[in-house]
Amino acid sequence: MPNYTPEQLHWKAVARKIADEVVRPLAKKYDDLQQYPWEIKEAMAKAGLMSVWLPKEYGGAGAGVGSLCVVVEELSRACGGVGVAYAVNALGSFPILLGGTEEQKKKWLPLIAKGEKLIAFGLSEKFAGSDAGSMRTWAKQDGDQWVINGEKKWCTNGGSADLFSVFCVTDPESKAKRISALLVEKGTPGFTLGKYEDKMGIRAVPVNELHFQNCRVPNANLLGGKPGHGFKHAMHTLDYARPGVAAQAVGLAQGALELSTLYAQRRQQFGVQISAHQSIGFMLAQMATKIEASRLLVTEAARLVDAKAENITKLAAMCKYFATETAMEVTTNAVQIFGGYGYMKDYPIEKYMRDAKITQIYEGTNQVQQMVIVRNVIKESLEWDYLAKWIPTETMTGGLEPAPVDATKK
Ligand SMILES: Cc1cc2nc3c(=O)[nH]c(=O)nc-3n(C[C@H](O)[C@H](O)[C@H](O)COP(=O)(O)OP(=O)(O)OC[C@H]3O[C@@H](n4cnc5c(N)ncnc54)[C@H](O)[C@@H]3O)c2cc1C
Repeated sequence: MPNYTPEQLHWKAVARKIADEVVRPLAKKYDDLQQYPWEIKEAMAKAGLMSVWLPKEYGGAGAGVGSLCVVVEELSRACGGVGVAYAVNALGSFPILLGGTEEQKKKWLPLIAKGEKLIAFGLSEKFAGSDAGSMRTWAKQDGDQWVINGEKKWCTNGGSADLFSVFCVTDPESKAKRISALLVEKGTPGFTLGKYEDKMGIRAVPVNELHFQNCRVPNANLLGGKPGHGFKHAMHTLDYARPGVAAQAVGLAQGALELSTLYAQRRQQFGVQISAHQSIGFMLAQMATKIEASRLLVTEAARLVDAKAENITKLAAMCKYFATETAMEVTTNAVQIFGGYGYMKDYPIEKYMRDAKITQIYEGTNQVQQMVIVRNVIKESLEWDYLAKWIPTETMTGGLEPAPVDATKK
């Protein structure tokens, strides 16, 4: 286990109690129904979990992203859908926290901390997923209001949120300042929920399209008070939020490891427990090792976020990439350990595999994470340039002078 702070251990214990006593008994029900688990949300709010990552001056517990991650891990260990139903409130609130005016922070964050308002994050569109900057939803200023038109795709918490951070094109001519974020409240005329997605996993959280047709919001809802900073806020938000997705993956993998280890000690074939077969034992060993490595990466990435370190992008991408690949591998192996029973819905293990898949896709696919990582590694290679003399150049260039490193190239 990482060297958690006393505060993180406190939140871990609070979340574990709720996960074991409230979430686990209801996980199958909400997976089957594909409905938002309001009774679980009430229990989480009552225990103060909705306040964990928010600063004290805005009604939060001031426990940071490190504590957010331990809570997400504990909840996801019982149900990946509940894990994200919780974590998405951090994702939705980070744009306000990182880019909002003092007035916006004071108005919205205390309501989120109390669990009175749920929030969602609207960036992706039908034709703008990995390439989020190519979005088409637009907003135009009209007097003291902004008028929004367009559609957002796959908004997690869509059907349950009260408030939405919505990213829109506000200056189509500009390259750097094309996008702004606007806060839109549920029930604003011109804003409706679109398609309710029928999903493979994380079925406890609703994922919807958001539709805007001449939807008017006051100028006061323009994040940060100035247009053109939306893309920067979105990217900064993802740096803060990716350790949370990675923590969801760690929780799912840990939950699957626990159940499959118990099963492997109870199921007998060829006269012995299946855990005594080396192929199963080694599988469990590899699962446990990769989970621990993932957890350590998550903890370190979250620590850097909380320390407001200068470059958190690489480690945030690394922990998301590594932990979510681990979760997919571990949950698939867990089903394998359960054999035919693992494939059946009356056993709890196949849900872990279904819930894990999305962690490799949302908040930037794992292909996108690798693009982010390699971009940073190449930048860092400038520091290793003095070692190049040890590499015979003809093996790389066929006798030509080596091309200089261009760390700015994407
Ligand atoms: C259940 C669910 C919940 C979601 N929740 C939210 C949410 O709350 N808010 C929100 O804004 N969005 C949300 N999303 C959207 C999610 O972030 C996108 O699905 C994701 O960013 C990928 O976009 P895409 O699906 O359009 O895939 P595409 O971008 O079309 O990618 C398709 C494939 O091509 C690969 N690919 C794309 N570009 C490259 C490249 N340059 N190099 C190599 N490979 C590439 C991708 O890795 C992927 O494998 C959610 C999605 C789902 C499914």
